[in-house]
Amino acid sequence: MRKFKTESQKLLDLMINSIYTNREIFLRELISNASDAVDKLYFRSLTDSEVQLTKSDLEIAISFDKDARTITVSDTGIGMNADELEKNLGTIAHSGSQEFKDENDFTGTDAADIIGQFGVGFYSSFMVAKKVKVVSRAFGSDEVNIWVSDGVAGYTITKGSDDDKPTHGTDIILLLKDDTDEDDYSEYLSEWKLRELIKRYSNYVRYPIRMEVTKSREVPKPEDADDSYVTQYEDYTEIETINSMIPIWKRRKSEVTDEEYAEFYKSDFHDFEDPQRVVSVHAEGALNYEALLFIPSRPPFDLYSRDYEKGLALYSSNVLIMDKCADLLPDYYNFVRGVVDSSDLTLNISRETLQRNSQLRAIAKKVEKKITTELEKMRDNDREDYELFFDNFGRSIKFGIYQSYGTKADELAPLLMFFSSAQQKYITLAEYLEAMPEDQKDIYYAAGDSIERLRNLPYVRTLQLKGFDVLLCTDDVDEFVFKSMGTWQEKELKNIQTADLDLASEDEKEIATKVAEENKELFEAMKEILGLNISKIEVSATSMEAPARLTAGGPVSLEMERILSMGPDADQIPRAERVLLLNAQHSAFETLKTAFAEGDKKKLRLYTDLLYNQALLVEGLPVEDPITFAEEICKLM
Ligand code: ADP
Repeated sequence: MRKFKTESQKLLDLMINSIYTNREIFLRELISNASDAVDKLYFRSLTDSEVQLTKSDLEIAISFDKDARTITVSDTGIGMNADELEKNLGTIAHSGSQEFKDENDFTGTDAADIIGQFGVGFYSSFMVAKKVKVVSRAFGSDEVNIWVSDGVAGYTITKGSDDDKPTHGTDIILLLKDDTDEDDYSEYLSEWKLRELIKRYSNYVRYPIRMEVTKSREVPKPEDADDSYVTQYEDYTEIETINSMIPIWKRRKSEVTDEEYAEFYKSDFHDFEDPQRVVSVHAEGALNYEALLFIPSRPPFDLYSRDYEKGLALYSSNVLIMDKCADLLPDYYNFVRGVVDSSDLTLNISRETLQRNSQLRAIAKKVEKKITTELEKMRDNDREDYELFFDNFGRSIKFGIYQSYGTKADELAPLLMFFSSAQQKYITLAEYLEAMPEDQKDIYYAAGDSIERLRNLPYVRTLQLKGFDVLLCTDDVDEFVFKSMGTWQEKELKNIQTADLDLASEDEKEIATKVAEENKELFEAMKEILGLNISKIEVSATSMEAPARLTAGGPVSLEMERILSMGPDADQIPRAERVLLLNAQHSAFETLKTAFAEGDKKKLRLYTDLLYNQALLVEGLPVEDPITFAEEICKLM
């Protein structure tokens, strides 16, 4: 018995017990090794005329034996001689794909990181096997060698015979561990399970992965069967290729039909509608990768729930590393589905190592850029589609701006669309700026729950008369997005529902101040009536049609208050600072003045209340005491 090197022993323990928590990937690792071995032989055949290969040389076979509790992975690849068995499998550190760098010192280093540095693929078999036997015959050699280990103490290498391995290649035979109360190893001893694992992890390995499968067929009807004959079925076995081999993302877009993309998308990403857009990327050079990205036609039902997991499937040379690699997508593109495949990535094991992988980060950047470009293209060339897209996923993009505190606005804001009160359709910020008259300083918006209501707001009408467009925002997050941006293209984003809209001329302002001055006592009396509800009463300098309008003085608008009040901490939210703006030109103002001058306190209270409550209603806010409000109106009738 030869012993594993000490460091190998430690790593083995680490891996078996902690790092490879997902033990079913053992099959993926063994199939990848087999595929590499076939690759090596194939490449040799290209340069060495001595090597004549037939089609059956380029295959991988999987079989299992329920009674013996074994799973066998066989290849007809390059094989290993005794030295190679020793070197490749005797020392975990001696991976053929990457030399182990730090020979001895594991203290203080992240175990996952060390393991991620080199291939430990083969050893993953000890997660499910209590004994592993490797029978190998190097290409062109007469010798068969057998490596056996329990993965704990060490291994033996003995000579085998032609019967053990008649042709070149390697058989890996796993003797599965015994089942325990917690762990069911026997589940791998089924055609169904193995097929599932091959499909899942190794579907695009480029050599056929063959397995004997049981099928059912109709027994031919006997000649003498009478009317009472019932069709009989029988089981039979057949060798079948399980994997589909050529990954669709490796093929050029021009070679793949829309239907093929749609089929792949629907089956791999479990959607029953075709994708809205397909993006395929083939990058060569400093960074080698393929990406196939899909924008779904509709949002998954759980997109905005806590349980939703974003991410792209990550492959390394056709072998699945991770189902949903979250690091490949920024949150604001969380709706994108797809695949990234890069030969530059090793079959790293843990999430942690991937996160720190600079190649992966570089790919993620490119993927993001690609998605942005595609969306821009759609926005500019295919507006109808883009509107549909934005209706589905615009919220994610808005959240991206909001959650980055506006730092992502440069990239993301050009993708936004809002309803324009002037054009009566969805427009981009660029289109808003383009249509903006020269004397308009700021970008105006109003936020509320419906376009219908917003477009009838008194102030929207006032602005439109001046030729200024107002963006009507109906998404909860809209106002927060604009607040986080502050400005766009050096133009301030202004909520017209807040008080500081500087639209009036100097003359108008002067008149307003004068009227306010003259009616100071009236305002004081009104404030007293309204109590805490209102922080200020002012005269509107800008002319308007309505008798009064309610605005917010501070940073919190009435709409923000409404949205926040629906959230979990409703009683702790900051309240909007309400300002009642009066229209001094309106007859209602005269009525108030008269009531005050006559000392008719009852009347003044009634009119003040009514004015305030109707202003609330116009802003889409509930009146505080609807019963009294209704009674008051009736009184007037
Ligand atoms: P990796 O595949 O990352 O190099 P492994 O521990 O899985 O790491 O394998 C170690 C080495 O053993 C491989 O690099 C290869 O040289 C050799 N090897 C493993 N499986 C086979 C096989 N089926 N045929 C030939 N060589 C193999």
